[in-house]
Amino acid sequence: MKRIGVLTSGGDAPGMNAAIRAVVRGAIDNDIEVYGIMRGYAGLLADDMIPMTRSSVSNIIQRGGTILKTARCEEFTTHEGRLPAIENIKKRGLDGIVVIGGDGSFRGAKALSEAGVPAIGIPGTIDNDIAYTDYTLGFDTACNTVLYCINNLRDTMESHERINIVEVMGRNCGDIALYTGITGGAEAIVLPEDPMSVAEVAEALRRSRARGKRSHIVVLAEGAGKAADFEKELSVLGLDVRSTVVGHIQRGGAPTMTDRMLGSRFGYHAVQLLKEGIGNRVIGIVGNEIRDFDIIEALSKPRVFNSELYHASKVLGM
Ligand code: ADP
Repeated sequence: MKRIGVLTSGGDAPGMNAAIRAVVRGAIDNDIEVYGIMRGYAGLLADDMIPMTRSSVSNIIQRGGTILKTARCEEFTTHEGRLPAIENIKKRGLDGIVVIGGDGSFRGAKALSEAGVPAIGIPGTIDNDIAYTDYTLGFDTACNTVLYCINNLRDTMESHERINIVEVMGRNCGDIALYTGITGGAEAIVLPEDPMSVAEVAEALRRSRARGKRSHIVVLAEGAGKAADFEKELSVLGLDVRSTVVGHIQRGGAPTMTDRMLGSRFGYHAVQLLKEGIGNRVIGIVGNEIRDFDIIEALSKPRVFNSELYHASKVLGM
C-alpha cells in the first residue's frame, strides 16, 4: 500500500477532523501517502483531491465540522455514476480509501470495495444510529451541546414556572433525546422508538406538578414530532409552555475529549487495516475496544433499542 485517500461524507459531525488527522499521520508514519478528497464522493467524481502532509492536519483536532468539507452525491449511488470515480482512483494510484460518514456513506464504501478498491468506514454521525458500534463520532459532542441548552432553558423555566419542549435531532434513532433527557433531568422524553401522544406528555407533566415541581423540560426527538405542535396542543390544555428547536447548533462546535479520542482511535485503526491490504471493513467501539466488522454484516445488523435505559429514564425523570 503506497497511497490512500480519505473523505468525509453525509452529515458532518464533531470529531471528523480528529479522525482525518489520525488517518493522515498514521499513514505517513507507515510511509503511505495520503490524498484528502474534497466534498465526499462528489470530490471523488470530480477528481478534487489534495495531497496531505503532517502539517496539513495541524491545529484541527479541536475544530468541529470537517476540513475536507462534506456533501451528498446522488450520482455515486448508481454503478454508471461511480465509474468516473473508479477511473480517478486508478489515475491517482490510490490503493485504498477511508470513508468517514454515516450508513449511507458506508454503502458507498461497500460499492468501492466491490469495485476492487479496499475501503474502510469510520462511523461519523451525531445520531448514534449505527447498530454495530456502541457510539458514533460526534454523538457525545452533540449531546453535550444539547445539555448546555437544557441547562440554560432550565434556569428560565424555573424562574417563570414554565414548561419547555426541547426538540433535538434524531429522525429514526432517539439516542440524542434519550441520553440528554436522562442527563439533563427531563421530566418527559419523547422518542421515535416509542412516541408518546400529547395527552400522555400532558399527563406526565400533571403528575410531576402534583408532586410539587414547578418547571419542566420535555426532550423531543425530531422523528417523534415537532416542538411547535406540542407547544400549541399542550397550551390548549391550559399549560404554560414554550418550545425550543436546538437545530444545527448541535452539529457543530469543538469536539469533546470523548469524540477527539474516538476519532483518533478510529483513524489510527483504519490505517492499521489498510496497510495490511484489508478493506471492506467498518470500525466501531464495543465496550472500550476498537473493533472492525465486515461492511455487509455491519450494515445488515438491526438496531436494538435500549429499552432498559428507556425504562430507567422514566423512573429517574419523575
Ligand atoms: P450518511 O452517510 O450521513 O448516512 P447519506 O445517507 O446522505 O448520509 O449518504 C451520503 C452519501 O453516500 C450519499 O450522498 C451518496 O453519495 C452515498 N451513498 C448513499 N447510499 C449509497 C448507495 N446505496 N450506494 C452508493 N453510495 C451511496
